Amino acid sequence: MLVEPDFPYPCKSKKGANYIHKNFVPIGLLKLGSLYRDLGCDVQLVRGEKRREEIGKQPDEILVTSVFTYWSKYVWDNIRYYREMFPASIIRLGGIYATLHNKQKKFKKLARALKVRTHKGLHRKAEEYLPDYTLLPKVDYHATHMMRGCIRRCSFCGTWILEPERTNKSKTEIEKELIAIGKNRVIFYDNNILANPHIKEILQLFENLKVNKKPVLYESQSGFDGRLLEKDPELAVLIKKARFQNVRIAWDNGLADQDAIKRQIDLLVMAGYKQNDISIFMIYNFNISYEQMIRKIELCAKWGVQITDCRYRPLELDFDNYNSSMRYGQPTGSYYIHDKSGWNDKKIRDFRSQVRKHNIWVRYAKDKGRPYDKNMERWSDIHTTFKFFKMGRPPQLEIIENSPKWKQCIQSMNKIKRYFNVNNKLSQFDFKGFNLEKVDREIKVIIENLYGNTDNVAKKGM
Ligand code: SF4
Repeated sequence: MLVEPDFPYPCKSKKGANYIHKNFVPIGLLKLGSLYRDLGCDVQLVRGEKRREEIGKQPDEILVTSVFTYWSKYVWDNIRYYREMFPASIIRLGGIYATLHNKQKKFKKLARALKVRTHKGLHRKAEEYLPDYTLLPKVDYHATHMMRGCIRRCSFCGTWILEPERTNKSKTEIEKELIAIGKNRVIFYDNNILANPHIKEILQLFENLKVNKKPVLYESQSGFDGRLLEKDPELAVLIKKARFQNVRIAWDNGLADQDAIKRQIDLLVMAGYKQNDISIFMIYNFNISYEQMIRKIELCAKWGVQITDCRYRPLELDFDNYNSSMRYGQPTGSYYIHDKSGWNDKKIRDFRSQVRKHNIWVRYAKDKGRPYDKNMERWSDIHTTFKFFKMGRPPQLEIIENSPKWKQCIQSMNKIKRYFNVNNKLSQFDFKGFNLEKVDREIKVIIENLYGNTDNVAKKGM
């Protein structure tokens, strides 16, 4: 049995710079699924804590994955749950947290108490397999790497520790893989995709590659290494021709790099991307002070590009209780604050809020020559809800505000969305082309199915 713990992945607007795939595809587990099936085992994948009757017979082995070290709580909660359910099964824990923390006292103590065996680093044998997507049939994209390791050694990053050995897929290998998988959307989880020495021929391949007789869309989850773009500007053209979407450039250092970042943006714009569609990856709550980070936002506003922000948490950290909805702050110690460079709770919240406003302005107001206004934020939230139900673009805010029925309907839609997010379920709705009457009818049915009847919704305070 493969277990992906209940990680609290953020669910954000797909259009937004901060869109992170609601559920990362647990590629490692899917590859292990292929390997174990090849060995003749019955394999199932579970996400979070499932009831005994949902699982069936006792598994011989339970393989649990882990991601960010600061989400260790979710890993141990799930392991504890399955250890109680299956005292005799072998439990193995692998993934990022297991690789980085396995020598720490707390980790060892828990592993001993719960009889957990640890797997460190990549699983060499499983790496030879393609992910088994039958274990996650709703995933419509292929998640993969075209290289492992990195040419750099950034102090905040674990890639070079997790993947000390650099390996690169060749054009032929990646072509064979994409054809065998047969999906028309591919997301690369590489940390520094342009560092693959075969990148140019791979991008040329992507330009013409057809799968199911259709072109493929690509995305790199991490930012492009702008220094490599500048070194070989043709890469920007090839990236565009290859149909990479949601392009991001990493700006990890201070203001001294501003000219270089501007040149890198210009390369992408000359290649055919619109400024609005480019995003700048920034790490905050780290060595660059709040004041400099605010200046970085101002420069991004001048350049008309979005920002993808990432709050720094040290690799040694095994908890993170930051709560963005606590607007008036959290007590010291709830989460990591890099006070060495002057960060504090207030500055962290303020920076986050400024990035959010900036992105909404870039997306909805900049091209119309309008300043940011609070209503855009409201409309942006409604837009996200509409996307969840595949309903396209919402009506204008004034129309919604003047329609009690729309307001009620959106409120119920938000409740359903929240239910799905809390329960870590993917959206299954497709309301394309529905009018308000039809949406209203469908929403009532869903709420009734989830909660018995619509009155219970209010009682349960959904
Ligand atoms: S370039 Fe990116 S992947 Fe490489 S070490 Fe730096 S942050 Fe990590």
